[in-house]
Amino acid sequence: MTVLPIREMGDPVLREKARAVTAEELASAETQQLIDDMIETMRAANGAGLAAPQVGVSKRIAVIEVREGNPRYPYKPPIPLTVIVNPELTSLDGVTFATNEGCLSMPNLRGDLERFENIGARYLDRDGGVHEETRRGLTAGTFQHEVDHLDGILFVDRMADMSSLSTWEQFEAFRKADFVAEITRLVERVGS
Ligand code: ZN
Repeated sequence: MTVLPIREMGDPVLREKARAVTAEELASAETQQLIDDMIETMRAANGAGLAAPQVGVSKRIAVIEVREGNPRYPYKPPIPLTVIVNPELTSLDGVTFATNEGCLSMPNLRGDLERFENIGARYLDRDGGVHEETRRGLTAGTFQHEVDHLDGILFVDRMADMSSLSTWEQFEAFRKADFVAEITRLVERVGS
């Protein structure tokens, strides 16, 4: 497995709408290698997820994983390794929650935004198996962040108020304590 270079904001590939993957393409050695490399790259960067456009491939594939004690996102509940191909998300009830995100393609930036709290997720796994499930809370937010990448959307596009845009250091200094208290209440309420 190879750790791939991560594309950063300003790279046009991050603004493209990625194309769906065919069953044949998904089964190919090349795509399976890409998925392995994306997992390795996400883990090396301590990300909670990584979408194919972030490594320069404009295809609808993303990987998501939060291990216990992730140093970038210590407040996020664990998510087992999940590979999502051709994902479709729908809000189940329109309810949103306030969150704060960062992105491996936007180094050293974080900001406040709203995400849907309860989503239906339909996707293929790396073997082409169909999954339909409900995701809630911060985990739902992580899914939305990754699927946004497949549509050329970065989290800053979702910010209603840019005044919360900050560096990670200033987030730690001025925002983290309040945010973690707020988000911990959400995690306790919805369990993810
Ligand atoms: Zn991102």
